[in-house]
Amino acid sequence: MASAFGHAVLGATLGKLLLPERQYWPYWVAAACCAALPDVDSLGYRLGVPYDSLWGHRGLTHSLLAAAVVAASGAGVGQLVPLARRVSAGRLALLLFLSTASHGVLDALTTGGLGVAFFSPWDLERYFFGFRPIRVSPLSVRAFFGQSGLRVLASEGRWIALPCAMLWLFLGLIRRTLLTSRAHN
Ligand SMILES: [Zn+2]
Repeated sequence: MASAFGHAVLGATLGKLLLPERQYWPYWVAAACCAALPDVDSLGYRLGVPYDSLWGHRGLTHSLLAAAVVAASGAGVGQLVPLARRVSAGRLALLLFLSTASHGVLDALTTGGLGVAFFSPWDLERYFFGFRPIRVSPLSVRAFFGQSGLRVLASEGRWIALPCAMLWLFLGLIRRTLLTSRAHN
């Protein structure tokens, strides 16, 4: 897996991209949480669920189906939000689907473990992309707080946080330019 930080950064960035107005920041947080959510299966891994099984790590919880279920559930819950901050169910579902699915995409770009069962439960094959620049994060929390964790964070900084930060800056610039030109018209 990539670390929870790497996943959350990409999820929040998708939130900023799809719902750029600052008042929607709680949705950025929700997207960050959804992006980290599939690794809930690492609890099963610790309890002895085989890595390469249906419920194993990077299995069903990392599939596109799981992302669709999270998106549909989240969009339903989103309709309970007060009207002033509510966004359309379709927009919210799209954000939650993309942020949850982004998890598998990042994992398929990592250097270790088994691949991602994107099409589970119909196809249990595990997939990796041909290009895998992100150093895999250890499953054990203890192992993460050491030298290998620092190497993972450095790798994620380069391949996830930096591109995301550039996108945030770019979106901010576009927004400022649009607001300035609107004020002048
Ligand atoms: Zn994962």
